[in-house]
Amino acid sequence: MAPAGILYVVATPIGNLGDVTARAKDTLSSVDVVAAEDTRHSGRLLASLGLDRPLLSLHEHNEAARADEIVAKLRAGQSIALVSDAGTPLISDPGFRVVAAVRAAGLRVVPVPGACAAIAALSVAGLPTDRFCFEGFLPPKAGARRARLQDLARETRTLVFYEAPHRIAETLADLAQAFGDERGAVLGRELTKLHESVYADALGQLAERARTDADMNRGEAVLVVAGAPARVDEESAGDVDVRTLLGLLLAELPVSRAVDVVVKATGQRRNRIYALALELRGGDDL
Ligand code: SAM
Repeated sequence: MAPAGILYVVATPIGNLGDVTARAKDTLSSVDVVAAEDTRHSGRLLASLGLDRPLLSLHEHNEAARADEIVAKLRAGQSIALVSDAGTPLISDPGFRVVAAVRAAGLRVVPVPGACAAIAALSVAGLPTDRFCFEGFLPPKAGARRARLQDLARETRTLVFYEAPHRIAETLADLAQAFGDERGAVLGRELTKLHESVYADALGQLAERARTDADMNRGEAVLVVAGAPARVDEESAGDVDVRTLLGLLLAELPVSRAVDVVVKATGQRRNRIYALALELRGGDDL
């Protein structure tokens, strides 16, 4: 019986074809099948490299079914390269289920690393990279997106987001609202491509610029946002009771401002703090 094949997870360029690695080319030229998110798109990439390999479509909607098929092909001795439309497969791209299934079947999965937009953006952002968290795409619906950002407002690691061009301005506005206008951020747009640009500023300034500068809303973008400053006196701040803080603020500020301040200070969900404000106000209509 032929030895089992290997699944190679192959990174491809995020725009600049010069970024394809020598090893990626060798791997793509030697495998029996290339499993690709969009076979037409990857067919063009292969053609530009002078390669012609059989393609198998593998996208979000057929991934579970394809996983079994890929395991069967590997068991039969075929080697397979997994690619996505751009960058590293599985990073906000399909492939996780296939890799999990292949590993569960006891077969080999080999990385062929290369471009990744998140890492490219981090490498030029000038924000701390010793610890960072990749948040991928935020929820597209405004309410869910804002709730997620509230949850992340006190994250101290550098944060990395992917965003679709038509939502850049909206997302920057939401980020400025949730994290504060002064928080530093970097927008990396069209990285490695002809119109590559990197905008570094405070979130409030970036959000303002995105409202008027059409260029900023074109093409593909990664947002890298500085983490929240670590609290100087974590313990004593932790001792402040949310209810007490909110009560004090309600005596001084309009309700929505008091709720905003508590949400920013504690990182708790806005609707939870709002409900607490209602309770403290004895259920008055706020
Ligand atoms: N797997 C890819 C990777 O390794 O980066 C990411 C795929 S995800 C579906 C596509 C998102 O990645 C885009 O919406 C954008 O946020 C980001 N992206 C991809 N290429 C980019 C580029 N050249 N410049 C900036 N962002 C890019």
